[in-house]
Amino acid sequence: MTTSVPAAVNPPRRILMGPGPSDTHPRVWAALAAPTVGHLDPYFLQIMTEMQAMLRQVFRTTNELTLAVSGTGSAGMETCVVNLIEPGDKMVVCVNGVFGGRMADVAGRCGAQVTIVERPFGDIFSTAEIAEVVKRVQPKVVGIVNAETSTGAWQPLEEISKVVHDAGALLLVDCVTSLGGVPLEVDQWGLDAVYSGTQKCLSCPPGLAPVTFSPRAVAAIEARKTKVASWYLDLTMVRNYWGQSRAYHHTAPINMNYGLHEALRLVLEEGLEARHARHMKNHKALKAGLAAIGIKYAVAEGQQLPMLNAVLIPEGIDDAAVRGQLLSEFGIEIGGGLGPMKGKTWRIGLMGEASSPCNVLLFLAALERCLSDRGYKLSPGASVAAANAFYAKG
Ligand SMILES: *Cc1c(COP(=O)(O)O)cnc(C)c1O
Repeated sequence: MTTSVPAAVNPPRRILMGPGPSDTHPRVWAALAAPTVGHLDPYFLQIMTEMQAMLRQVFRTTNELTLAVSGTGSAGMETCVVNLIEPGDKMVVCVNGVFGGRMADVAGRCGAQVTIVERPFGDIFSTAEIAEVVKRVQPKVVGIVNAETSTGAWQPLEEISKVVHDAGALLLVDCVTSLGGVPLEVDQWGLDAVYSGTQKCLSCPPGLAPVTFSPRAVAAIEARKTKVASWYLDLTMVRNYWGQSRAYHHTAPINMNYGLHEALRLVLEEGLEARHARHMKNHKALKAGLAAIGIKYAVAEGQQLPMLNAVLIPEGIDDAAVRGQLLSEFGIEIGGGLGPMKGKTWRIGLMGEASSPCNVLLFLAALERCLSDRGYKLSPGASVAAANAFYAKG
């Protein structure tokens, strides 16, 4: 057999304005390329300790059990569910998009007796309907998505957390897209099991899943009668590596952890409040620009995520052709719709590093070109002017 060697990896430079991954800061790339050390090297143990301290600050929690799971956001989801659920346990899962649907799938696979509460894609859940369900079902765990990246809807948690706890249940929350983009108060809101991912508003390549568990959730894990169904994600073992004993479980993805360490340093240097304000400002500028050329949001006013702008594709405009042109001519990636929104919406991400005036103005100019090329009527430059007018107001 002859051997052949393909060309070295040389990816095109993209502007990542889709539903994730988002643009990465050069400091994170540099950290990823640092020399690998052993997973029990004193240097790496120090990195882990620092990372846990930074994760607690970003999650706004004092939870002891706070760490980065080896795997993407979905591994974080699976970690939370598989550690809290024993076969036969009741779990309520709120499904108003793809990720709620995924959580229900995971819960079923873990042996939960799953009750699904549904809302149409793009809607959010009211406290009253969750209160009714938990009273009726008496679940051990309620799972909900804070920022539904598939639809662009922003689910408030504070009131729901109260009714879930009043019913004696634990609240499990998907914060994959919300962490680092919008306010999240794990302790103040009483969230019990929370997972995120590195590749959305933390702006680190995909590969790790930050998680945090309240003392209540830890007590539930410790009270299990059966082994956790996943060996790899079993926190009763993984936590010994992240805790005092530093017992080997699996080899930590060393360089990914360097990357997240640097990404978290960037978040804390900027400051959480400033970072949230930046996400909101660029969202509003984008929205002003889109409004000026007649592009409407798919989610109701007041429920729109600043980091994931789901907008309705204008009548007669070819979804894939526009996204293709944005990518090939301008290097800009945006997302298409998922599930029932397929072909109906574009998902424009302004996550982490990608949330910048530079990207907003470039995207609007590029979108005008793509739309004009297809005969869409607009007043040339109107979107860029409207976004600029918004920025000029301060
Ligand atoms: C991206 C995302 C996930 C899944 O994360 P992966 O990194 O793709 O595994 C889960 N939930 C939400 C809300 C997401 O946006």
